[in-house]
Amino acid sequence: MNSSITSVKLVLLGEAAVGKSSIVLRFVSNDFTENKEPTIGAAFLTQRVNIGDETVKFEIWDTAGQERFASLAPMYYRNAQAALVVYDVTKPQSFIKARHWVKELHEQASKGIIIALVGNKIDVLESGEERKVAREEAEKLAEEENLLYFETSAKTGENVNEVFLAIGEKIPLKK
Ligand code: GDP
Repeated sequence: MNSSITSVKLVLLGEAAVGKSSIVLRFVSNDFTENKEPTIGAAFLTQRVNIGDETVKFEIWDTAGQERFASLAPMYYRNAQAALVVYDVTKPQSFIKARHWVKELHEQASKGIIIALVGNKIDVLESGEERKVAREEAEKLAEEENLLYFETSAKTGENVNEVFLAIGEKIPLKK
């Protein structure tokens, strides 16, 4: 039995209101609220998951999506080993923003950073809202830029744990 803990600094980036804080709340507390107060600056939370015999402790920086905070982002991604770049599958503008974040991370963040592209709010497609970002388009970006790719719902919890597990599995474990 191996009791070592591997810590992973992870940052969330993406346009305001795509659901970054909600994804973190779902992952950390298995909870969801409809009317979340926007994050000011950044919030820090941790959560542990077991991957095989190993414990991975995620140290999560949830950054505010508002433009006025964008200049702070490098502070949070500079030492990050992983990033979630989140967009809303019904908001094309948020996907354009996601492309920019991926580019910036590749240019400015640590070389080996693991990036997951996350299309959130897929639950709304069930209730008749129109998808505005094709899965194929996101898959293409993920392939070109070497990203993990998931579509999630923070509301139902669909695929949220899976994103973090997939990242955990790619992190070199402390032995
Ligand atoms: P952030 O600014 O990116 O952190 O976004 P928030 O987490 O604050 O979410 C913005 C709004 O979208 C809130 O009203 C959330 O309740 C809502 N929201 C977040 N994730 C989902 C989701 O997966 N499905 C639906 N239907 N709403 C969501």
